[in-house]
Amino acid sequence: MASYNLLLLPGDGIGPEVMAEVEKVAAWCQTTGIATFEIERGLVGGAAYEAHGQSISEADMALAHAADAVIFGAVGGPQWDSVPYEVRPEAGLLRLRKDLALFANLRPAICYPALADASSLKRDIVEGLDIMIVRELTGGVYFGEPKQIIDLGNGQKRGIDTQVYDTYEIERIGRVAFELARKRGNKVTSSEKRNVMRSGVLWNEVMTALHKREYPDVKLEHMLADALGMQLVRWPKQFDVIVTDNLFGDMLSDVASMLTGSLGMLPSASLGEADSKTGKRKALYEPVHGSAPDIAGKGMANPIAMIGSFSMALRYSFGLVEAADRIETAISDVLNAGLRTPDIKTEGATMVSTVEMGEAILKALEASK
Ligand code: NAD
Repeated sequence: MASYNLLLLPGDGIGPEVMAEVEKVAAWCQTTGIATFEIERGLVGGAAYEAHGQSISEADMALAHAADAVIFGAVGGPQWDSVPYEVRPEAGLLRLRKDLALFANLRPAICYPALADASSLKRDIVEGLDIMIVRELTGGVYFGEPKQIIDLGNGQKRGIDTQVYDTYEIERIGRVAFELARKRGNKVTSSEKRNVMRSGVLWNEVMTALHKREYPDVKLEHMLADALGMQLVRWPKQFDVIVTDNLFGDMLSDVASMLTGSLGMLPSASLGEADSKTGKRKALYEPVHGSAPDIAGKGMANPIAMIGSFSMALRYSFGLVEAADRIETAISDVLNAGLRTPDIKTEGATMVSTVEMGEAILKALEASK
């Protein structure tokens, strides 16, 4: 049985509550003979600040570098709003993304039929939706230099951010998207604003050349980012894999998240470059939601986004596709049986706590073949 090193970083707020349910699913994987996990646990965010005065310690960073996958809960909370900027909870997550060079952010938007009525769009538009948004995470306007506010000396100031992409950055995120598409619906939609941005012209050229050279078997289409935003709410099922830059990806993935009903349902993965010898990638898996201080400690958190993130680790870091499919089917079964945490409550459903939802998923897993 293959063995993998996991680093669990539950973080703050509901992070530890939802992580506890993931630990049960990991234990199920071991008893079923799917894989064994060497599990390390660390602190991040406010929890790390309380213990070490830092948002993540050097020791935990070393564990993150050594891990086959980092499983991350959530960070933040009002009690840390006034801590120094460099040690604020979010700094721990940003450092992990930067130091592990996690340039590809994968956000699936799946609408389980049982939850189609929880979406703000009509059932027939979202039911059965399964799209993957691939966002470039370490470049573009969030990191480009110059990045500053200049005093113009005449009572005016000027704010500057720089959108910048090099060929290699576009190629490596493109490869992630094309490889994913080959395992799904075999279609990639690449999105930019080539009509008004030079970086968009380059993005389009590089994607087109990469497609021709390495992935001619995959269907490629280009769509301007504003049009794509409109199409996401008009007819989202036309998409399979969407690949876009950091800024547009940030916005478009949030739009897509609303198609699925609740933040508590959305997993994500952030991947680094594949090692040329082993093919292994650094990887961090986390739910899209934050630490939800309003419901922390009340047993109300939906653990599905966190369990779904663990399932993505099985699929994308360890190639345990069958086990990942079983977890996702178990989630679907539990929803079909009418179990709901408060964030996804629907008429006539049975309300359950975080732990009850986790246990129901585990039971469905145990009953699955
Ligand atoms: P949030 O995602 O924590 O919560 C937004 C709303 O969604 C809240 O009403 C919350 O109760 C609900 N919600 C979120 N996850 C849920 C779940 N699993 N089950 C049920 N309901 C859920 O966003 P926020 O309120 O804007 O931020 C709270 C804190 O989290 C802040 O400190 C923020 O900085 C931090 N944050 C962290 C991350 C991260 O760790 N990646 C992401 C976003 C926000």
